[in-house]
Amino acid sequence: MKKILFAASEVHPLIKTGGLADVAGSLPRALAELSQDIRIILPNYQSIKNTEEVRFISSVRVNNQDANILETKLPDSDVIVWLVDCPALFDTPGNPYVDESGNSWPNIADRFTLFCRIVVEVATNRAHLDWSADVVHCNDWQTGLVPALLSIEGNKPATVFTIHNMAYQGMFPESVFSDLNLPRQLWHPNGLEFHEMLSFIKGGLAYADRITTVSPTYALEIQTPEYGYGLEGLLSHKYDILSGIINGMDLNQWSPETDTSISEPYGIDSLEKKIINKTSLQARSSLPVNKSVPLFGLISRLVDQKGIDLILDCLQEMVNMPLQFVLLGSGDKSVEQKLLDFARLYPKKISVTIGYNEGLAHQIEAGVDIFLMPSRFEPCGLNQMYSQRYGTIPIVRETGGLADTIEDALPKSLANNTATGISFKQATPGALLEAIKRAILLYSDKKSWKKIQTAAMKKDFSWEKSAKQYLALYEEI
Ligand code: ADP
Repeated sequence: MKKILFAASEVHPLIKTGGLADVAGSLPRALAELSQDIRIILPNYQSIKNTEEVRFISSVRVNNQDANILETKLPDSDVIVWLVDCPALFDTPGNPYVDESGNSWPNIADRFTLFCRIVVEVATNRAHLDWSADVVHCNDWQTGLVPALLSIEGNKPATVFTIHNMAYQGMFPESVFSDLNLPRQLWHPNGLEFHEMLSFIKGGLAYADRITTVSPTYALEIQTPEYGYGLEGLLSHKYDILSGIINGMDLNQWSPETDTSISEPYGIDSLEKKIINKTSLQARSSLPVNKSVPLFGLISRLVDQKGIDLILDCLQEMVNMPLQFVLLGSGDKSVEQKLLDFARLYPKKISVTIGYNEGLAHQIEAGVDIFLMPSRFEPCGLNQMYSQRYGTIPIVRETGGLADTIEDALPKSLANNTATGISFKQATPGALLEAIKRAILLYSDKKSWKKIQTAAMKKDFSWEKSAKQYLALYEEI
């Protein structure tokens, strides 16, 4: 049994802004089920939503700052959660990174530096908790200073640093390094310094014993200039300790057999019932109810990363094809407007909902035939996994986790029944259109289509599978 301290800036269901929270809420649960002694640690934000009892267990002083450690449980589990309570830094409205108006916290470097310092105290049994870690598992830049600070300790635990998205690095002017009173020996180009700036993520990349990211393909991509944001050199230098482990998905929430948000539950053995979800989705989206027309769907943040510009470039051609399209998303205001304008012009072909709507997201996954995910980059991605569970065939660009979780429908994979989706390489409207045409053609052959759906629904995207891979890594170090 390993003693693991899992450090993250957000943990579902306590606090969530994105996919990191899902991982930090699910992976520790799965590791606990594999009989590991795992503790989660995160800041005690004002906006934490907790249903479990919270109790004070200790107070710690670091760098002339005081913090309390509060203990609670991850809701509906026995996983212990330690909250780093420092009201001066964390008892504010807003989310972990921005204030109520969406502006980045001016003291964000102070916030996560204190958090990292406390993680180090807890991991090394200096926080009066009578517990020390064998492994500290850090996540994204907010925890990057932990491996760096541990590197100058004696008897230190092993460290793993997981990259959930290289696009966020925690960069600050050099003066912040001095203001934070960080150990001088960490300031050099092989340490926390990045082009005369302080880089939190480099603390993880330069000092952790193992670096992971959330898919094997993304682990390779970030070693190249296109995806590495200037850190590709360091990452390719570290290639032998860098690996990719695909995230699991929450099967309690996303299973068509038990999904309470959809019109009609279904499974592999009752796939014929999926059509009821299609016709109700068409009706609620004010599209003509038509069982045989291929229905396309997309659920996404409307931002560059998701290749939404490719969709916009294809829409004019798509409305001339025999298909319907249901889109749900929010993000870039000009993209939102263009999509709404298009839907107004072609109300019988395209339905656009702007906003965040979990219920509708489930209905789309269950109701559509084909899901579009043409991301420019995608560390792991969830919707392509949900789609496969729901017998909804994803069209993806072959990048990151999309490349690793989809088996493209090619003659060979079709022949041996391993095809689960359709993928294309180039991030161009032409390549996306070709993939769409390929999907429509495949859809027209009902027998092959059902085979693809069945293979997709059978895939194992459980957290248990991923947790076993993390455990193997912990055992190695
Ligand atoms: P990312 O974390 O980069 O946004 P993922 O595919 O990993 O992308 O996860 C996105 C998650 O957010 C999925 O669960 C998806 O269904 C959900 N989502 C995104 N946009 C919306 C929306 N407008 N309404 C409901 N759910 C959404």
